Amino acid sequence: MAVAKADFEACQGYANCVMAAPTVYDIDDDGTVVLLKEQISEEERSKVEEAVKSCPVSALSIEDE
Ligand code: SF4
Repeated sequence: MAVAKADFEACQGYANCVMAAPTVYDIDDDGTVVLLKEQISEEERSKVEEAVKSCPVSALSIEDE
């Protein structure tokens, strides 16, 4: 099972991740990424990988558990 992780300290609120995978990421009122879910289905994985790559501060990752 793939799990989405986020470094909330590193996030600068660019929202690239929300564009890439809106079912997994959102931005809160403080401009910090929110994980809408952590368990990533195979169907969502490519979008999440795109989001990980798109983050300018490398705040996102996927771990296989
Ligand atoms: S792309 Fe990176 S910096 Fe931007 S909101 Fe997402 S996690 Fe934060």
